[in-house]
Amino acid sequence: MHDGFAEVVSDRAHDAAAFAFTPEVEADTAAIWDKLKSKVTPLEWRLNAPLISKINRLKRQKNAVILAHNYMTPDIFHGVGDFVGDSLGLAREAARSDAKIIVQAGVHFMAETSKILCPDKTVLIPDLQAGCSLAASITAADVRLIKARHPGLPVITYVNTSAEVKAETDICCTSANAVQVVEQAAKAWGVSKVILIPDEFLARNVARQTDVGIISWKGRCEVHERFSGEDIRELRAAYPGAEILAHPECPTDVIEASDFTGSTAAMTDYVMSRKPKQVVLITECSMADNVAVDAVDTEFVRPCNLCPHMKRITLQNIYDALLHDQFEVTVDPAISARARAAVQRMIDLPPPAIPARYDLVKARHHVDVELI
Ligand code: SF4
Repeated sequence: MHDGFAEVVSDRAHDAAAFAFTPEVEADTAAIWDKLKSKVTPLEWRLNAPLISKINRLKRQKNAVILAHNYMTPDIFHGVGDFVGDSLGLAREAARSDAKIIVQAGVHFMAETSKILCPDKTVLIPDLQAGCSLAASITAADVRLIKARHPGLPVITYVNTSAEVKAETDICCTSANAVQVVEQAAKAWGVSKVILIPDEFLARNVARQTDVGIISWKGRCEVHERFSGEDIRELRAAYPGAEILAHPECPTDVIEASDFTGSTAAMTDYVMSRKPKQVVLITECSMADNVAVDAVDTEFVRPCNLCPHMKRITLQNIYDALLHDQFEVTVDPAISARARAAVQRMIDLPPPAIPARYDLVKARHHVDVELI
């Protein structure tokens, strides 16, 4: 046998032993299995549990935390996530923690947001290719052009943007507080119109909730833009008792046809507090999988779209990230300081009493968004 080949075979045999489902691994991960066993097959569990056990040990050794977004698969979300939720909630939790290392189980703009809010911590992303169609839709130069065309208007950017774009803006928003931020910014600037970028559909859906005029950009989330009003009508016909919850990055005809629209936090809150018998979450696939683990009285109907960027993050590359301290995300300090000011202005707003929802009665009034 060729020497190199023998080495590879021996490495693989060593790896197989190191990642075996041993009684120690079983004991170490018993509490997680207990939570996930109705959603994960025993075969999957025997493959994933050794990695989950190793990741959780490495985190303790290296004083690291894992921020797991709602769109991570349940093995990551429930198995190794220290903080779970939406991108901003995750970054805020990270800033409060004593950990030296943050592993972002999410996409690149989220890792940048964590670095902006935690400049002294090492921020790692397991796959540098984990991007986002919305974040990629706009550059800092585009924002400068919009500002030049509309001087004097406040620029509000969705958190799904790069650090450079955040640095060009006045205040950030999320889907949970976009209406609130638009109204506060219009009041603070003393204007009747604001710039809300880059998500065209979020802007259109926010515009229907407020009298403030909105100028937006043609950015779209490739996951949510694919749903249509026709999809919702077909779902209603097939599942007449199901409550349909949509994300505000969906097109407006989806929002009109749904029972409720809100951020991922608002959707979770809706399911956990109202306990619908049957529900459809019009968003990324893993969201329903993760909520279903806790919402044991609700049946989830699963038409969904996968985010190819989120799905780049796996248990294996999270383990590699922790083991080899890869891949570090950095932000130029001058950009970071300006971007932090935009994020901080949003954080400093009084928190809404309940997660934002998109009011259906007002939503029937049509309001145009001015697109650049
Ligand atoms: S779900 Fe949409 S907004 Fe979120 S990372 Fe994927 S493409 Fe971007």
